[in-house]
Amino acid sequence: MKSIEVVVVGGGVVGFSTAVCIAEALPSCSVTLVAEKFSPDTTSDGAAGLLFAAKFPDIPLERQRRWFRDSFDHLLAIAQSQHSPEAGVMLSSGWQIFKEVPAEKKPFWSELVIGFRFMSDRELNQFPDHKFGHAFTTIKCECPTYLPWLEKRFRKAGGQVQQRKVSSLEELSSSYDIIVNCSGLGSKTLVDDSQVYPVRGQVLKLEAPWLQHFIRAGDGMTYIYPGIHGVTVGGTRQEGDWRLQVDEGDTKSILERCSRLVPSLSRAKVLSQWVGLRPSRRNPRVERELVQLQGHRVPVVHNYGHGGWGVTLAWGTALDALGLVRQCLHETHLHAKL
Ligand SMILES: Cc1cc2nc3c(=O)[nH]c(=O)nc-3n(C[C@H](O)[C@H](O)[C@H](O)COP(=O)(O)OP(=O)(O)OC[C@H]3O[C@@H](n4cnc5c(N)ncnc54)[C@H](O)[C@@H]3O)c2cc1C
Repeated sequence: MKSIEVVVVGGGVVGFSTAVCIAEALPSCSVTLVAEKFSPDTTSDGAAGLLFAAKFPDIPLERQRRWFRDSFDHLLAIAQSQHSPEAGVMLSSGWQIFKEVPAEKKPFWSELVIGFRFMSDRELNQFPDHKFGHAFTTIKCECPTYLPWLEKRFRKAGGQVQQRKVSSLEELSSSYDIIVNCSGLGSKTLVDDSQVYPVRGQVLKLEAPWLQHFIRAGDGMTYIYPGIHGVTVGGTRQEGDWRLQVDEGDTKSILERCSRLVPSLSRAKVLSQWVGLRPSRRNPRVERELVQLQGHRVPVVHNYGHGGWGVTLAWGTALDALGLVRQCLHETHLHAKL
């Protein structure tokens, strides 16, 4: 019999990854995922979904490496299985290019992707403004396909899904024993976290089936990511900007920058445009606390604030969140219910 009620707030890549991890690992828990928005309307849906990461300043590098490795290995197993097309997960090879040699020539994840090496002169010749680069194979995880696949997997593990906006954690405390908060940018109001802020990103989808390699400028401002249904090109990184509408100035600038890198893109048809707000924070918050709600202390596990790296780190932080839920079960009165 399921005796512990767990609720996960958030239906993006972080919420569904966390909900699947909990539902599959803890069959004694009944897990419900509650979200205001679902695929295809979450931020995760618009992400190009390429596995890369920058370093967060205050999280031990070992932990960040583990998040990256756990996510990469989880998605690699899917990419190499029969589930790859229905999950929207595939391998993607290409280049990250730099105008100046970066201080850290090898990123912390260089050993975790496949075949990482510095670019040869011959490869660099195609990008005359750039003098250094990384060549490697990583994973592309397309959330409009991956999220429904994860939802199916969650339901198969007994999970339930509800669509609604949660106005406060109090609303949940009478029905659930443990609350798992994966509400991304929503955490700004839901848990009153003033450290959370948006970083606006605009992208376009182009029809350019002749492009096979991803290309990303080292500063993350310009990128070209071929996918199953078109090539995603970007981008912008506008901190504190809440605008969700397409900006024609940004469109022009993205097309110019990308066509400078790959001139044939100037002929590509624009299929769609999209704007999303990265749920940013100095460091993602993956921790637990006891919160006083309606007269009793309720365990709350937080997993939000992944910024521009949520697809990359979702599975790794979900496994950490699962570990935190396990601690809640063992260190509170809840273990008596097990
Ligand atoms: C242009 C762009 C390109 C990107 N490219 C990449 C990339 O290549 N690789 C990568 O790793 N990352 C990328 N990202 C970042 C990535 O999209 C995010 O880090 C990721 O989507 C965050 O996932 P999330 O589940 O935390 O948030 P979201 O996808 O925003 O989901 C949040 C969920 O919480 C729900 N919610 C919030 N508040 C409430 C509430 N009060 N009640 C009920 N539900 C609530 C929402 O409805 C939603 O379901 C990109 C982002 C942008 C904008």
